[in-house]
This record gives sequence, C-alpha cells and structure tokens, in this order.
Amino acid sequence: MALLMIVDDDPMIRKMLVTAFKDKNYDVIDAPDGKTALRIFRDEDVDVVITDIIMPDMEGIETIRELRKIKPDVKIIAFSGGGTLAPDGYLKLASSMGAQYTFQKPVSIKELSKAVKDLLDS
Ligand SMILES: [Mg+2]
Repeated sequence: MALLMIVDDDPMIRKMLVTAFKDKNYDVIDAPDGKTALRIFRDEDVDVVITDIIMPDMEGIETIRELRKIKPDVKIIAFSGGGTLAPDGYLKLASSMGAQYTFQKPVSIKELSKAVKDLLDS
C-alpha cells in the first residue's frame, strides 16, 4: 500500500486527513512543519506528500523544493488557505516548484483522494 505524508501546522487538519486516508487503507504519517517532514522523509519511502504552505519551521514552498531534491519522483499535492498573499499566489509558486496538484482550502477529502489516486496511477 502507498505511503502518504500529511504536512500541516493545523493539528485538526492533520488528524482529519490522517483518519480519512487510513480509512481508505493508505499508510499515513504526518508532520507539523517542513523541517519535521524532511527529517521523516529521509527515512521513509513516501509516495505522496500533501503539504500546507504557511507553516512555522519551514514553509511549504521551500519544503517542496527540498523534497524534490531528496526524491525527484515523489508526488506532491499542495494546499493553502492563503497568508500574506491570496491562496492562488502561493499555489502558483507551489506548482512552479513541482507540486502536481494544488488546492485552495477548504478542500474536500473526495477531491484530495482523487488527486492521490491519479498520482499513484500515473
Ligand atoms: Mg498553515
């Protein structure tokens, strides 16, 4: 089964997504920020990363760039509710760094799991 990693500084969102994807029989690990995510990522064979953008201790854009350096073919989904910029500003940056799918928050589990499935099938 594929291994997913959920990266978000909001514990409610992490918990919701971890539960939802475990229910769909994925293996799921989570991290509250980019630094922690990269540390885990070096030790685990993660197939798909779903990452928030605005986080303390390394935001999502830099995280995506580092993930790609470590594992060039990892699948990446970015999502954001915005910050100083509107969400689409961050999400465009995320795409340019190599996120294959981007979503504005709130995003439904249905949309996210369809993106995960598409990436794993590709
Ligand atoms: Mg955040």
